[in-house]
Amino acid sequence: MLDEVQAGPYTVRGISVGGVYTSLQVPELEVVLDVGVPVRSFAGTERIFLSHAHPDHASGLGSLLGIRRLLGKGAPQLFLPAEIEAQVHEALAVLGRLHHTSMDVRTVPMRPGDVKPLGHDLHVRAFRTHHSVPSLGYQFLRRVTKLRPEFLDTPPQEIARRRKAGEDLFVAREHLELAYATDTLSKVLETEPGLFDSRVLVIECTFVDPKRPVQDARDRAHLHLDELIAQADRFRNEALVLMHFSQSLAPHDVRALIEERLPPTLRERVRILAPAAGRWFG
Ligand SMILES: [Zn+2]
Ligand SMILES: [Zn+2]
Repeated sequence: MLDEVQAGPYTVRGISVGGVYTSLQVPELEVVLDVGVPVRSFAGTERIFLSHAHPDHASGLGSLLGIRRLLGKGAPQLFLPAEIEAQVHEALAVLGRLHHTSMDVRTVPMRPGDVKPLGHDLHVRAFRTHHSVPSLGYQFLRRVTKLRPEFLDTPPQEIARRRKAGEDLFVAREHLELAYATDTLSKVLETEPGLFDSRVLVIECTFVDPKRPVQDARDRAHLHLDELIAQADRFRNEALVLMHFSQSLAPHDVRALIEERLPPTLRERVRILAPAAGRWFG
């Protein structure tokens, strides 16, 4: 029932149709991205990231918390745009009164540029997306410190001695691992150019039909495949995951159009998060 693609070292699984539902999980990062529909097997994940509060991305939250209660799980961490934090708490409080249960979450309000540690060397940085309501994208990255090249041959005891003496022997490196950019104008590629360098880029592609004008996508604060094709040479990602397709085309037609229209250099790196055949789920 769930769609699943392998993108570099990451598995992206879930379900996504523009305007209907989107909820994805990346097990290797232990994150759930959006909760437009409650997915049973996502309920044990402790970190949830909301891109924005449109119902196709957020309305399954109460149900997912209900499934967590069945599992005996406590309040998960909920990363979300700071502007919607209070309303999300209000909505959950109302649901809690309705269900006679507590709907606790530990919210982590985020603003563009905010970075939060997620344990070990993994971090998340929020970035601005361009939609009709407060919205964010999330860049997952690893921060590692490495010995400066000039000290690579230095014996460990000497390194330890110099370190103790306060010498600066290390250099910090950031590896952009996976970025999630949904419900946004293509302008996000200008305002967040690091997206071209993220190892994996999960990005919305609501419209793929060349008969549908790009302006249609822009009017709805969404992205058109033509806009990705126009910048095809700039994507340096190991893999791209396209998702959030409009239900105006069947999954088979979405696949056929993308495969036919993408230039070969991009086509081989693109994964399509959609059913292999048949209809959209539901
Ligand atoms: Zn959406
Ligand atoms: Zn939206």
